[in-house]
Amino acid sequence: MTKAIYPGSFDPVTKGHLDIIQRASKIMEHITVAVLENPRKVATFDIEERVAMLNLVTKTCPNVTVDYYRGLLIDYAQNKNINIIIKGLRAMSDFEFEFQMALVNQKLKPAMETMFMMTNNKYSYLSSSIVKEIASLGGDISSLVPPEVYETIVAKYR
Ligand code: ADP
Repeated sequence: MTKAIYPGSFDPVTKGHLDIIQRASKIMEHITVAVLENPRKVATFDIEERVAMLNLVTKTCPNVTVDYYRGLLIDYAQNKNINIIIKGLRAMSDFEFEFQMALVNQKLKPAMETMFMMTNNKYSYLSSSIVKEIASLGGDISSLVPPEVYETIVAKYR
């Protein structure tokens, strides 16, 4: 079975993330969306909130499950028997970091393949940080995030 993992912070999930999940789930038999719990980075939404939001927006995708992990992604993936990492690419700025990560992961676990999916041009400017910046300034984020999670995100900044 072609299983892949789509890792990230998802702090919070955006329409850009969901687009990658939906497109990847048409190619792979199963996608695990894995939320990184990074003790060194302060997140706006805690791990339970991020997982709950992802569960809500993927509830109609039968071959997608949501989970979280700590530590090395390749260790988590190996435990789950997954050898493919999916990453989304927006701009050259994503490329440099992702290129380094893909090569490091390949060095540590040669069987692990990283596959890149180009952003949908509708969402090429979209990131979790932009959503948070706009929401914190009272701007309208309704076109940037899935409707199921809009209220939760706006409520955080009330
Ligand atoms: P961000 O905070 O920048 O949104 P994440 O760590 O949550 O970053 O992103 C997880 C993955 O989703 C990464 O591979 C990232 O490149 C990808 N991604 C994020 N936003 C988009 C987008 N708008 N289009 C395509 N891929 C995206």
